Amino acid sequence: MNDKSAIITGSTSGIGLAIAERLASKNYNILLNGFGKRDHIDNIISDIEYKYGTQVKYHNADMSNSTEIKNMIDFAKSEFKSIDILINNAGIQFVANIEEFPIEKWDSIIATNLSSSFHTIREILPHMKSNNFGRIINIASAHGLVGSVGKSAYVAAKHGIVGLTKVVALENARNNITCNAICPGWVKTPLVEKQIENNAKADNISIDDATINLLMEKQPSLKFVSTEEISELVCFLSSDSARSITGSVISIDGGWTAR
Ligand code: NAD
Repeated sequence: MNDKSAIITGSTSGIGLAIAERLASKNYNILLNGFGKRDHIDNIISDIEYKYGTQVKYHNADMSNSTEIKNMIDFAKSEFKSIDILINNAGIQFVANIEEFPIEKWDSIIATNLSSSFHTIREILPHMKSNNFGRIINIASAHGLVGSVGKSAYVAAKHGIVGLTKVVALENARNNITCNAICPGWVKTPLVEKQIENNAKADNISIDDATINLLMEKQPSLKFVSTEEISELVCFLSSDSARSITGSVISIDGGWTAR
C-alpha cells in the first residue's frame, strides 16, 4: 500500500472525479466522497484501482452535515497511514433572484459549498500538523472573485471560501501546510450542463445556442476549462515545488475575471 493519501470531497462526478483519478495516477490512495448510485461508485473504485494500483475507499458523508464530515475524516484516518492532501470540492448550485431565493436552498448551498470546508479542515489539521505536512486545496470559482445575478448563495459561499483559504494559510504558514484556492471559470460538468438546459428552456433556444451564450457572456476564451487542466494545477500545488505557494487564489477561467 502507498503511504500517501488524498481526500477529495464530491468526487463521484465532474471536477472532483478528475482530480481523484489524477492523484491516483501520482500514487496517492484516494478517499472518494459524493452522491450517486452504489453501482456507479463501485465502478469508479474498481476502475481507478485497476488503472493505477492505488487503494480507493469511499465514504458517503453528506457535506452539509458536520457529524458525517467528522465520521468521514475519522474513517480516512483509520484506513490510511497518512492524509497528505485534502481537496474541498463538493458543491451545488441554485439560480434565482434574492426575493425568490428559497431559504432552504440558501442554507444548503452555504452548508455544502462553504461550511463543509471549515469542518473538513478543522478535523484534518491536527493530523497534518502531527505529520508536519499538508496540502489543502479549496475548489472555489470565478464566483469567488466576482458576482453574477441570480447566484447570491453560490457567490457568497465562494467568496467565503476564498477568505477561509487565506486564514488557514496564515495560521499554518510555519507548519509545512499550504492552503490555496482554485477559481475555475465554466467547466462542462453536470453542474453546468443543468444550467445550460435551464437557460435553453427559459429562452426557448437550442442547447448549442444556450452553450454559446453562456460562454460569450463570461469566458473570453469561448472554451470550457477542462477538468484535466484543473487536476494538473492540483498536482502542482500538491508538489514540493509549490511549498511557498500558500493563501493564493488562482484563477483558471479563460479570462473571465480579467475584465
Ligand atoms: P458536479 O455536479 O459534476 O459534481 C459535484 C460533486 O459534489 C458530485 O460528486 C456530488 O455528488 C457532490 N456533492 C454534491 N452535494 C454534496 C453533498 N452534500 N455531500 C457530498 N457530496 C456532494 O459539479 P462540478 O462542476 O464538478 O463541481 C465541483 C466543484 O467545482 C463545485 O464546488 C463547484 O462549485 C466548483 N466549480 C465548478 C465550475 C463549473 O463550471 N463546473 C466552475 C467553478 C467552480
